[in-house]
Amino acid sequence: MPQVAVIGLGRMGQGMAGRYLDAGFSVALWNRSKAKANELIARGARLAASPAEAAQGADAIVTMVADDAASTTVWLGADGAARTAKPGAVAIECSTVSYQHALDLGRELRGRGLVYIDCPVTGLPDAAASGKLTLLVGAEPADLERARPFLAPLGETIRHFGPVGAGTVYKLINNLMGAIQIAGLAEGLAIAEQAGLDMKLVLDSIKSGVTASPQVIKHAPRMVARDFSNATFTAALRHKDAAYAVVLAESLLPDLPVSRATVAAYGKATAHAPDDDEGRIIETVSRPKSSTA
Ligand code: NAP
Repeated sequence: MPQVAVIGLGRMGQGMAGRYLDAGFSVALWNRSKAKANELIARGARLAASPAEAAQGADAIVTMVADDAASTTVWLGADGAARTAKPGAVAIECSTVSYQHALDLGRELRGRGLVYIDCPVTGLPDAAASGKLTLLVGAEPADLERARPFLAPLGETIRHFGPVGAGTVYKLINNLMGAIQIAGLAEGLAIAEQAGLDMKLVLDSIKSGVTASPQVIKHAPRMVARDFSNATFTAALRHKDAAYAVVLAESLLPDLPVSRATVAAYGKATAHAPDDDEGRIIETVSRPKSSTA
């Protein structure tokens, strides 16, 4: 039975770990907050005391944590997975990290004899739990082949963008463009509200108009109703992704006015409600002009 370590059991990691159990893998888990592992332990997973313990003997190690700092801790910290991972084990970084971090981590783990692929994903927590994620891979072709058996439970759609880091480049532009759409939608809706438009008519018109991307369709009714229940993606994560994208873009393009403005807008949204639904960004722009003085 192949042995996999899953590190990071947030909204996404919980579902991903469950997929390995469903597929018959032997699963070791680690999460900073231990209670999040309870349901998976009841389904047959083993909880390790550290990422290093989870990685011991694993054929593959899959990480799904918040950001660069968390990824560094779980891989390279004093109790990190790299300390015990066996040579030839497949290291799969699914967290959305910065481009430079993906490159540095890949170099470090390859130097320790691991096979490394960067594999950020698109898809919401329900897609993680049902094995329907889209996997955005950066890897040498032979390394991707080694990783495939461990990717199969997570999703069938694998987009191989190029060498290590290339999956992260795509993921960052994807989430930057999403941030721009959501921040733009919030401002458009706030203008419509303050101008006194019939918001039901506005929503119907948006839905059937050319701006109706899946992001817009998802967030518009929630923003108008100010219903931010069942958050799937937080303001802090959206801000992090957009900021990482701008750092990458700064090395490639001379000017990024829209991207920079969006990072600033999501900075405000994060200060307002970091761990709530990203759509709450509308609350940072929807006050009438006189009340902001
Ligand atoms: P989440 O629910 O906020 O979970 C974050 C995870 O990171 C938790 O396991 C958390 O541990 C861990 N973590 C944070 N800081 C840590 C640290 N310093 N040391 C160790 N562990 C740390 O986030 P999520 O929605 O699952 O997202 C996880 C990753 O997937 C992020 O990179 C995100 O950008 C990406 N992503 C998310 C979605 C989505 O729809 N949610 C979609 C695609 C990609 P605790 O449980 O102890 O807090």
